[in-house]
Amino acid sequence: METPTITSEDISITPSDVIQHTYCPRHTYFQSVLRLPQFEEKYYKAMKGRRMHDLKLARNKEYLRKKIGAVEKELDVYLATPRLRGIVDEVLTLSDGTKAPLDYKYAKFKKRIYKTHALQLVCYAALIEETYGVPATRGYAVYIRSSHHVAELKIDDRAKERLRKEIDEIREILINGKFPRRTRSKKRCMDCTYRNYCPQ
Ligand code: SF4
Repeated sequence: METPTITSEDISITPSDVIQHTYCPRHTYFQSVLRLPQFEEKYYKAMKGRRMHDLKLARNKEYLRKKIGAVEKELDVYLATPRLRGIVDEVLTLSDGTKAPLDYKYAKFKKRIYKTHALQLVCYAALIEETYGVPATRGYAVYIRSSHHVAELKIDDRAKERLRKEIDEIREILINGKFPRRTRSKKRCMDCTYRNYCPQ
């Protein structure tokens, strides 16, 4: 296989990269080292169009932020640190002086925040803490298809530590090009877009 030429300065990880990696570390390898496409571009473009429309409508609902206790908001905030980057739908300042990410989801709320949504909020909280220098210990997901249900996620140090480890692992794969371990859940291989390339 080709020798990777990525250096530590070239690496800019997004929340989607972290989510892919958590699903299976080999996704990081196939996607970012071998650069094999996932064939899902059309789907994501369609979702993006729909998302923009719903986002506009949801944002007018000021009472959602009031319910949370936000005293200030910033919209579509691009945040970048040396290890991570992303665009947060909203960065809220809460009445206790802390900050929190808020993300809109075109999905139904089913008892608790989806794992991928939670991971995304942890990424945003880490970006907010590093950029603004204030704690971000909560995150919010607004579920558009459940009458704009607002779900709160507590983000503790353990979640941030887990994120740090995931990012270290991703960087290691990108820099050294080492083929990583497979996912622990074999079920995931059944509908994986990389299954034809992956020795299982
Ligand atoms: S086939 Fe399984 S082990 Fe291979 S990349 Fe996909 S999920 Fe990971």
